[in-house]
Amino acid sequence: MHQPEKEGLVREELASLQLENLRRTVARIRDNNAGYHARLGHVDPGDLRVIEDVAGLPFMNKEDLRKAYPFDLTCAPRERFVRFHMSSGTTGTPILNPFTASDVEQWAEIMARCFTAAGVNSADVVQITPSFGLFNGGFGFHYGASRLGSFIVPIGAGRSSLQLQFIKDIGTTCITAIASYPLRLMEVARQENFDWAKTDLKVGVFGAEVWSDEMRARIESEMGIDTYDIIGMTETGGVGLGIDCEARAGIHIWEDHYLVEIIDPDTGEVLPDGQTGEMVVTTLTRQGLPLIRFRTRDITSVISRDKCGCGRTHLRIDRITGRNDDMIKIKGVNFYPRQIESLLLSEPGVGNDYLIEVDRIEGADKLGITVEVHNPDDGHLAKNLRRIVKDFLAFGAEVKLVPMGGIEKPPGKAVRVVDRRE
Ligand SMILES: [Zn+2]
Repeated sequence: MHQPEKEGLVREELASLQLENLRRTVARIRDNNAGYHARLGHVDPGDLRVIEDVAGLPFMNKEDLRKAYPFDLTCAPRERFVRFHMSSGTTGTPILNPFTASDVEQWAEIMARCFTAAGVNSADVVQITPSFGLFNGGFGFHYGASRLGSFIVPIGAGRSSLQLQFIKDIGTTCITAIASYPLRLMEVARQENFDWAKTDLKVGVFGAEVWSDEMRARIESEMGIDTYDIIGMTETGGVGLGIDCEARAGIHIWEDHYLVEIIDPDTGEVLPDGQTGEMVVTTLTRQGLPLIRFRTRDITSVISRDKCGCGRTHLRIDRITGRNDDMIKIKGVNFYPRQIESLLLSEPGVGNDYLIEVDRIEGADKLGITVEVHNPDDGHLAKNLRRIVKDFLAFGAEVKLVPMGGIEKPPGKAVRVVDRRE
């Protein structure tokens, strides 16, 4: 552990620390932003008696943050801002999160914990493949690895051939990436006859996208590494909200910095542990943009609040199943792209890339799935995939097999779904 005294706190102490930090956050909002404080019904820090009292405060969502562009919900004087990051992947008004020096410190701390949970230390060579810019990934990994004193390869996004060259020549031991990027690297490695076994690579820390267990298994086997699933988003202060550990028993959330609730997305009611719903995050130590009950749209559940096999006591959530916004509804059936990914990738002969397309033709919804496969003429495989998909969805889909590399891949986050309805 990077900070055993904090990561191993007994639950009662953790809860009282959370309460103290929640009160401090509410006081910060009250003292710095009258409009934000009014939104919270002018709550006084002293009104919060136990940590569960947070449930009496209103939710906030991405739309609220967009409307607040650029700084309407921020809670530090402008001269204290040292940088900002911006949400990616959405059109329209962006969401800005300005960081104070303390926020950058907080980020370095949680990222150092994450790297340590992944077995990374000062002796490691950490290659950072997300971009250094408005997207938070590059800088987040940088601050964490810097805190540990690792040797950083700050290459940033793209240039896959150079990425591979550095892995080999610089002796990279840990690679960090958006979860779909390893697939691109694996593809280029195959074209260049790159031998993963002849590298020192042992760990991959991947996140920012939903990736299935099947995808994970494929990456681990082909690259010969252990992978760790890291979560976090611009709104919460960037990557590093939590990560899974060597026990592979769920994703630890750093509870002294973040309070997590799982709610029913329709009613807003807080769900008991074990039930699946939308993750709501309250930041407990952020200054620039503290969040109270922010609806992340991420779907997950609390697995356990017991001490983990790794020794950490911070609660564990399930790997993210999907985002509320990603849910596809066809013929009354709701499903997530990750579920389709799991089905496809469990079949031998199927490559790592696929595209789900939804159309409305003459008033009826049609689902099409294009899948990269090793042999596009394999009629048996096509038939099998159609059957598996139909068994799962209870309606048929048009399944099209294309050769490896047959699906176009834009740079950045992977595009898995194209919905042309409306
Ligand atoms: Zn653990």
